[in-house]
Amino acid sequence: METLLLTVDEFVDNSENYTQAVNWFNSGEVVAFPTETVYGLGAVATDEQAVKKIFAAKGRPSDNPLIVHIGTMEEVARYVVDIPEIAKKCMEAFWPGPLTLVMKVKPNVLAASVTPGMQTVGLRMPNHPVALRLLQTLKKPLAAPSANRSGKPSPTKAMHVWEDLQGLIPCILDGGMTGIGVESTVLDVTLAQPVILRPGGVTKEMLEQVIGPVLEPNFEQQKIESTPKAPGMKYTHYAPNAPVYLIAQDKQQIECALEELQQQQHTVALLAPQNFANVKADYFFSFGDEHELEQMSATLYDALRACDKTNATIILATVTERKGVGTAIMNRLEKAAGGKWYQR
Ligand code: AMP
Ligand code: MG
Repeated sequence: METLLLTVDEFVDNSENYTQAVNWFNSGEVVAFPTETVYGLGAVATDEQAVKKIFAAKGRPSDNPLIVHIGTMEEVARYVVDIPEIAKKCMEAFWPGPLTLVMKVKPNVLAASVTPGMQTVGLRMPNHPVALRLLQTLKKPLAAPSANRSGKPSPTKAMHVWEDLQGLIPCILDGGMTGIGVESTVLDVTLAQPVILRPGGVTKEMLEQVIGPVLEPNFEQQKIESTPKAPGMKYTHYAPNAPVYLIAQDKQQIECALEELQQQQHTVALLAPQNFANVKADYFFSFGDEHELEQMSATLYDALRACDKTNATIILATVTERKGVGTAIMNRLEKAAGGKWYQR
């Protein structure tokens, strides 16, 4: 299949490109498009055959549910049994935005593969001009996971989607680099106390200001839970080819580690803030300015993906504080590293 790369920026009239994408959706095809978090691979969420194409293109396990994207808040009532008070408050405060709300799904409205064997659906109204214009023109919900091959870091640039899915999907809408860089926060509001199933751009602190106490299981707690709440939790994620090890943002520790690894004939890629650029790694990919968490989340996946273009045999990635969006960054880094820290 030939994959078209169509530009959709604000500076020229791209109406035709939107029309083309909408036509593809209406004819049961999948199209990749930018959101404010990462690029998504969309299909009309009520069209079972179209939704199946998402799983095929991504190589995604069929029991991993998809988030449904909508263009207006009014649509929520079509897909869920009821809208809890907490959900209403969240929608008002954070939509459109990087927050997915998990609610009880209405039976037989969405394609079965969107919520494989589940009683719930994750809904989100994205805050990106391209995603919103697509949804509002189409007037249908779009099931859209991240537009990468399953297991790889999510795409934050159209070129990342191209590298993973070229030849497998008919069209990629290129709207430039995504802003936030990590996926949406997934909040389960079906329980007595809301639970963060996946940390993201809307932080625990932000949520608690609006809805009070929120539970957030850490990496270890998620691992020991026998039945993960979000099926996505049990799959490898965000992983480049070479093994990733976490390390503190400490120049001396990093220099020691590099020396040791290079003595063992390793080729080392270092992912760290810009001020570590002068240490002697074989490859260096920047997380932006030190202490600028937003820069780190925006560059994280690009840096992880860049390692696959090198002959690095090991990747060291510096960690950050678990505060604000740092929680989401650490969640992705821990998954990319499988929880491993560098130890001499
Ligand atoms: P992705 O679209 O690849 O960013 O992954 C979507 C993730 O959202 C899944 O892997 C789940 O962790 C979560 N998710 C989506 N729908 C549900 C749901 N109904 N219940 C719980 N988690 C969900
Ligand atoms: Mg994903």
